[in-house]
This record gives sequence, C-alpha cells and structure tokens, in this order.
Amino acid sequence: PVRVRFAPSPTGPLHIGGVRTALFNYLFAKKNNGVFYLRIEDTDQNRFVPGAEQYIFEALEWLGISPSETVGKNEKFGPYRQSERKHLYKQYADQLIQSGWAYYAFDTPEALDKHRKQHEEQGKTFIYNWHNREKLDTSLVISDEETNRRIAAGEDFVIRFKTPVNEVLELKDIIRGDIKFDTNLLDDKVLFKSDGMPTYHLANIVDDHLMETSHVIRGEEWLPSLPLHHLLYKAFGWEAPEFAHLPLILKPIGNGKLSKRDGDKMGFPVFPLEWKTEEGISSGYRETGYFPEAVINFLALLGWNDGTDQELFSLDELVEKFDLNRVHKAGAKFDPEKNKWFNHQYLQKQSEEALAELFISDLKKRDFSFVEMTNRSLMKRIVSSIKERANFVSDFWELADYFFVVPTSYDEKASKNWKEETPVLMKQVIDVLVSIDDFTSLNIETIVKDWMTTNEIGMGKVMQPLRLSLVGALKGPHLFDIIELIGKEETVKRIEKAIQ
Ligand code: GLU
Repeated sequence: PVRVRFAPSPTGPLHIGGVRTALFNYLFAKKNNGVFYLRIEDTDQNRFVPGAEQYIFEALEWLGISPSETVGKNEKFGPYRQSERKHLYKQYADQLIQSGWAYYAFDTPEALDKHRKQHEEQGKTFIYNWHNREKLDTSLVISDEETNRRIAAGEDFVIRFKTPVNEVLELKDIIRGDIKFDTNLLDDKVLFKSDGMPTYHLANIVDDHLMETSHVIRGEEWLPSLPLHHLLYKAFGWEAPEFAHLPLILKPIGNGKLSKRDGDKMGFPVFPLEWKTEEGISSGYRETGYFPEAVINFLALLGWNDGTDQELFSLDELVEKFDLNRVHKAGAKFDPEKNKWFNHQYLQKQSEEALAELFISDLKKRDFSFVEMTNRSLMKRIVSSIKERANFVSDFWELADYFFVVPTSYDEKASKNWKEETPVLMKQVIDVLVSIDDFTSLNIETIVKDWMTTNEIGMGKVMQPLRLSLVGALKGPHLFDIIELIGKEETVKRIEKAIQ
C-alpha cells in the first residue's frame, strides 16, 4: 500500500517549495488510494522556532491538503513528532555499532575545523571518511577498550556511519532514473550525538521504516543524501522505499534557487501564510488575496504537467491526472505574473455571492461615506461588472470606487470633453432621467438615446460628460449599468455636483 510523508523541520515558516513537496506527496497518495502523513522532524533543538509547527498545519489546512495521520490525528505509528520519539533512536545507533556499520568518534569541533581549513588551503574539499580518518590524529581508528574508556570518562562522542570503501552505488530515482554514486566521495555522516539526539539521517530512516513509508518524495536538495540513506536501509537489513527527488524551484529572473529575497525584491510572497517576527512581517499568499485553489494549481505546474496544454486543474483533477513519472528533472522557473493570472482565473470562477461578500469585507476596512451600497443584490451586480478586470478582490476598490464615493475631481485629460454647452445639456439629461419610472439599464439607455436622436444631439456630447460626472474619469463598465446601480437619486446628485 502507498504511504507517503511530508517531513518538515519546524525551523521557520514553510517555504512555497516545501508546500509543493507536500502537494506532490498528497496527490501521489490520493491518486493511489494511499495515505499521506506528516511527521515533524524536530531533533535539532538549536533550530527550533516557536510557532513554526502550528504554521505548517495551518498552511496545509488552508490549502486543503491536510495529512490524514499526524500529531494529534490518527496516530497509528505515533508519536509523529520526532522529539517525542527520542528514546527510540539510540538502540538503532547501537545496532549499527554492533554490526560494524557505525563507530564512535571523538573529534573535537576545533580539530575538524583545522582539517577543513587545511584542505581548503590546498583547494580540496574535506571528506570525513576512511581515507582521511586514518590520517587525522584526533580520530585515529581506536580500539574498543580505548573507546569504552573514553565514553566512561565522559568524553563527547558522536556515532558515525561507516561508509563502505571503493563501491559504486547504482541507485534508482523515479524522476531521475539511474544515478551512480562513488562511496569514496561520501562523508561518514554523524548519526547520533552525545546529547542523546539522533541526527536527521538516522531519525529519518528509522521513522520512514517504522511508519511503513513506501515512497519518499522530497526536494532535490536531498539527492546527495540518497546514497547514505540507501546504505542505512542496507545496514539495517530493511527494504528501502522508492525515491523521487523533485526539481528545484528557480528564481523568476537569473539562475539559482528561489529565495525570500527574490520575493522581497519583486513584491511577491514566498510563504503560504503571513509570518510575523520581531524583524517584521513577511506576506503570505493568503493575506495577499490568493485563493487556495489558485495556489495549488500554480504549484502543481512547477515541475509537472499532464502532457497537454491544460493549465487549469481543480484539486480533484490533479489527483486524477498526477503522475510521478511525468515530473520533470529540470528546475521549474517561478513566475509571479503567471501566478496572478491563475488567481484571476479562479476569481472569475467564484460565485457572485462569494465575491460580493469578499468585497463587502474589503469595503469595511476602507473609509468611505456612500454606505448604502452594501445592498447584496447591487453588490453582486457590481462585482460581476468589474471582476473581469481584477486579479484580486482587493483590486475591486480601484475598479469600482466610484460606485461608493462621489467624485471630487474630474480627470484632467478628459476635460476637453467638457464644453461650454455641457452644463445645459446635463440639466436636460437630469430631466430625462427623473421622468423614467422603470429605472433599469436597458430602459434608461433606450430613453436617453431616443432623446438624443430626437433632438439631434451627438453621442459624444452627452455620454462622456455624463460618465465624467458620475465616475470622475473616463473609466468603468457600461455607463447605463452604472446609472442603474447607483440609482436615480445618486445619479442626479452627482450630475448636479459636476455642473456647479
Ligand atoms: N526534515 C527534512 C526537511 O526538513 C525532510 C527531508 C526528507 O523529506 O527526507 O526537509
């Protein structure tokens, strides 16, 4: 059975790349009638950030891709927080010592630094493995007795993996195919620390095994850990899950991985939800006005497509069409403008009721006087007349502010349409409007246009000054819709004000 996991470390707000990893795991699980679970990897206590764990759950919930097993929920293989599984890991580290797959090392951080520097000076990378270890004075391969003596004496130690020498591993990745790794180039990574905590590598493998993970789907930055993870499964005698490493998400401009700085520079969020610290607030997709469905949709296309030109997918459709074999190897460029386009599309799909409600809550945050317009049915007509030109609900105000506030200035550029005879004509328009009983767009339009034809008055002479009087600028939807929406009284009031 398919069981996949998202295994974030709560070291800060979830980055959009992490959300994509969660999404692909979710889609793969649902597609295969499997389980998507979430495990909190918090063994590195130095990097613990309060609030980060809660943030992760809230973000996934907002996006509609919550795990079905996690901390506090269906804890079938619980606990799902690694800090609460501490007691488990030591025995596995001991097991590897006993079977000869791991050893105690007593190097001090200073000694390691010294060796690292020496290598750097010679233009080499320091690899902590058999080759170097035998040369390092501080970590000579020591006898069991010596090891026991040092441990008993309370010396700081770590347990390191003993990487096999002179092997070429041929490993399989679902997305990348076969990859070869030379074990001589691998570090003997630390598995267990003297503070009693496992490192990521040990805890991750032990838990993936105990929690019966069938596939590991994670970001490309973990590819270098693949050989070690593979060897750990071998050392324990466990069957390894299948692996799939997702392509990087790249900067919109230039090369390299998308970072928070790109977002700050170009004005787009890189986090699903807002994140507040003492240094300030980082904006989130939710607070920027994105619909969660739009975020899901654009994330799904970062490194995957269904082989056609289709771009709009609901979550259900994604579940139906998702295929790990169709995930690309190459990095996926992040395109903030395209993301807005997705939001635009999802905004068009919302019901008029929903948009009206969203607009009303947006209006409540603003300061304006003409409040009668919170009438629901009028609001629905207003939003449907402007939504085509909006990417976000917050754009509505600029597109429709004239429905709510009387213009106080009249566009300079348009004032060439305002002639000497205009006030007289506008007074006549008022008379015409006042006489109309059925005050609906089409009827008003017919009557006003008939009046113009009968009196041989040119269209431009009336229509533009009228729009200017009502809107303050030559913008907005169909003029007679505006007239109907703001109503007879308000229309007359505005014309009178404009011709004063
Ligand atoms: N805790 C790791 C992270 O923060 C998990 C990596 C993995 O999926 O193996 O990304």
